[in-house]
Amino acid sequence: MDGIVIIGAGESGTRAAFALREAGYRRPVTLVGAEPHLPYERPPLSKPVGGMVQMTPICAREALEAAGISYLEGCSVSKLDAVAATVSLSDGRVLGYEKLLLATGARPRRLACPGAERALDFRTHADAEAIFANVAPGRRVAIIGAGLIGMELAAVLRGKDVAVSVIETAPKVLGRAVPARFADKLHARHAAEGVRFHLDRTVAAIGEDGVVLSDGSILPADLVVSAIGVVPEMTLAEASGLATANGILTDACLRTSAPNIFAAGDCAAVAQPGGGHIRHESWRNARMQAETAARNMAGAAETFASVPWFWSDQYDLGLQIAGRPQPAHQTVLRTTAEGELEFYLDDGRLVAVAGLGFGNSLAKHIKLAEMLIAASIRPEPAALADPGVNLKTLLKSARAA
Ligand SMILES: Cc1cc2nc3c(=O)[nH]c(=O)nc-3n(C[C@H](O)[C@H](O)[C@H](O)COP(=O)(O)OP(=O)(O)OC[C@H]3O[C@@H](n4cnc5c(N)ncnc54)[C@H](O)[C@@H]3O)c2cc1C
Repeated sequence: MDGIVIIGAGESGTRAAFALREAGYRRPVTLVGAEPHLPYERPPLSKPVGGMVQMTPICAREALEAAGISYLEGCSVSKLDAVAATVSLSDGRVLGYEKLLLATGARPRRLACPGAERALDFRTHADAEAIFANVAPGRRVAIIGAGLIGMELAAVLRGKDVAVSVIETAPKVLGRAVPARFADKLHARHAAEGVRFHLDRTVAAIGEDGVVLSDGSILPADLVVSAIGVVPEMTLAEASGLATANGILTDACLRTSAPNIFAAGDCAAVAQPGGGHIRHESWRNARMQAETAARNMAGAAETFASVPWFWSDQYDLGLQIAGRPQPAHQTVLRTTAEGELEFYLDDGRLVAVAGLGFGNSLAKHIKLAEMLIAASIRPEPAALADPGVNLKTLLKSARAA
């Protein structure tokens, strides 16, 4: 048995490798990553600086070496044998493991229409390079999918004076993860910036000249990008008989159904206290699950508990959401100099917050609201609505109670 093997060198796998060392694990750690780069951050791919695709490494090569992490770059695991406790690599080697972390992330959902192969994906650095190498002022890009990634890409491309059309099956943009108030505001901002929306339409086909919509109309495009969401990458887990559904199923300690195999990040669907499993697709979740999984692989037995949080940057606007806002929640709006915050109460208890403001200006409010959510408080709606009431005061009184 050769220490711990981590499959996937994205945010989760890489963070887990370092967290194992921080937890005092001294045996070999092997990080296997299919992409031919140092581990890198994905969020900057859709937030280019000065028009250039950013390659932001998660860590330096020297840091991996200093931590004694063997990084197998551009190498993929082709087979997992959960009984023999081995993984087979694309270069023919077979590694034994004492414990294994599946941090295989997610891959783009595929379009199923004729010509689907003409659309570019947007998940990896190579995808970003392919997209940005093909755009220039005046060129026409059709983005399929008005989710966070599609909308971020639309904002970046408008900044480059590219003609952008967004096609969305649903009648509204950002319907999956963003509360209606802020989805509407972002929609309006994109429209004001010149993005053309084709909502409530599906794609019938993609041809040489553009996209054929379900209503028969043709949307001319020089480039088509598919941003219709991702699916958890669980090919290895499924083939080796691990329990899966919408993700690799884990218990609250991030252990899968197979002995000594853990999962974390976009690929993991984690058991919830009230029943069921939840899978998140966000940067902070990937890191935090990695840290919990690493400590547990090193011998702890922590349950994973964290208020989900993500952000999105579009134009000069920053969106942040903590918790899981639901349409059934009572909403309370607070308007501040920096932007708007919406609080979500479930039976009087604060369970989520969302904010939209200039840049990162609402970050401190969201941070405090996260602490209020974690403290499980039942605030007076009037106090939440009043920008004169510092959220810190609410936290102090909650802690004193
Ligand atoms: C363009 C873009 C912008 C984003 N912006 C934001 C944002 O603003 N805010 C936010 O919260 N989140 C954002 N996200 C989401 C965030 O980046 C992901 O949630 C996070 O990267 C998930 O990390 P992960 O390690 O679980 O998976 P991934 O990042 O998908 O990494 C998994 C890695 O495993 C590798 N792998 C898979 N199978 C194998 C195998 N068999 N062998 C070897 N390697 C394998 C893959 O190649 C991949 O490199 C963004 C994502 C994208 C694509």
